[in-house]
Amino acid sequence: MPALRSVEDHQQAVAALFAPPEAVKVAVADALGLVAAVDVRTRVSLPGFDNSAMDGYAVLAADLADATGDHPIVLPMAADIPAGRTDRLTLEPGSVHRIMTGAPLPDGADAVVPVELTASDSGEGRFATARLLATPEIRFTAPIPVGKNIRAAGSDIVAGEVAIRAGTRLRAPQLGLLAAIGVTMVDVWRRQRVVVLSTGSELVTPGQSLRHGQIYESNSPMLAAAATEAGASAQSVHFVPDDVDGFLARIAEIAGDADLIITSGGVSAGAFEVVKDALTATGGVEFVKVAMQPGMPQGCGHVIDPSGRAVPIITLPGNPVSSLVSFEVFIRPPLRKAMGLAPNREEVHARLLDPINSPDGKRQFLRGVLGQSLGGWIVEPIGPPSSHHLRYLAGANTLIDIAADVTSLPDGWIVRAMRLD
Ligand code: AMP
Ligand code: MG
Repeated sequence: MPALRSVEDHQQAVAALFAPPEAVKVAVADALGLVAAVDVRTRVSLPGFDNSAMDGYAVLAADLADATGDHPIVLPMAADIPAGRTDRLTLEPGSVHRIMTGAPLPDGADAVVPVELTASDSGEGRFATARLLATPEIRFTAPIPVGKNIRAAGSDIVAGEVAIRAGTRLRAPQLGLLAAIGVTMVDVWRRQRVVVLSTGSELVTPGQSLRHGQIYESNSPMLAAAATEAGASAQSVHFVPDDVDGFLARIAEIAGDADLIITSGGVSAGAFEVVKDALTATGGVEFVKVAMQPGMPQGCGHVIDPSGRAVPIITLPGNPVSSLVSFEVFIRPPLRKAMGLAPNREEVHARLLDPINSPDGKRQFLRGVLGQSLGGWIVEPIGPPSSHHLRYLAGANTLIDIAADVTSLPDGWIVRAMRLD
């Protein structure tokens, strides 16, 4: 038997397929999850103008200096400023303007008294009507400090400052900030386009009925979801049966839209290994056995798309657990790196709650449930090691990483665990 390739060597072979991140401009609406490639400076200040932080009355604070409950100061309301009013108003001393949250402060005003702290002939401490029928008189019963309830222009960010630093992942708040400063296009590291193709003559689309010997196809939705979670855009195309010509025809159809093709199935030692047979014939892909469990049969290389471009392809084993664990171990880190994202998941040291066995010479990735006890991490291995136990994978929140030369560990031992959540 040829020597097995180590996990680390195959990780390197897979990583070498990826190009460095490429800077592109995309619409802010399409940038979710991507990483800013350059600093974004704002051309506008936020707020762009002094405005009111409350619904109330714009005043000259000096006018209210002597106001008390016993001797209120009563001032006429000279204008009404809803949010969105675009003309410039000036407040004359001895009068007030009714002003809404976010509305521009009139020149001459230096504070806003919240409506709740005032009284008027239209009602106690509230706006009785949206439309003013007559000029009401507003009663103030206390002074107000200068600047109170005013959001000063530039108090959030000043024109010319960096709003988003290069290297920042763009999530909801960052997209909000970009919109708030009026930006429509943003420079990011390009999103990788992943196409997932499952193979297997036993596969049936979920929702249809199964005959004896058939199973529902689960790898392509799972791998596409994993690629999406990793930040890529993923498409899962309809699976193909174990037929070399059909497989190659589908690869030719999908390659043009892909930065990376991921296949599942057809790479082990059986008699109908469609992926291995097809891509061994075309060349450009190497098939190896990796010293790991699950996920021993692996392949990676390039296929040529109809325009002559070499498209990276990674051929994962079909067993569902092998397939997803292989994605985690080999694909996720370089896929994220190619988009400027932090490649690795968080790893913790955790105390084993049960003893485990591990095959000699193979690095094992056991499914586990990670939790905390007395301020430290604990991990319970779950499910058998064989790679069709999708249920335990779905119940796991961690992969316990057992080195190749370890064959057994007692409970209480400290192990490395990769957090999947
Ligand atoms: P293979 O790698 O093609 O030899 O498949 C190994 C095992 O995984 C077999 O039991 C297959 O039926 C199963 N399998 C392969 N592909 C899929 C898939 N897309 N969805 C669910 N199970 C699969
Ligand atoms: Mg198969």
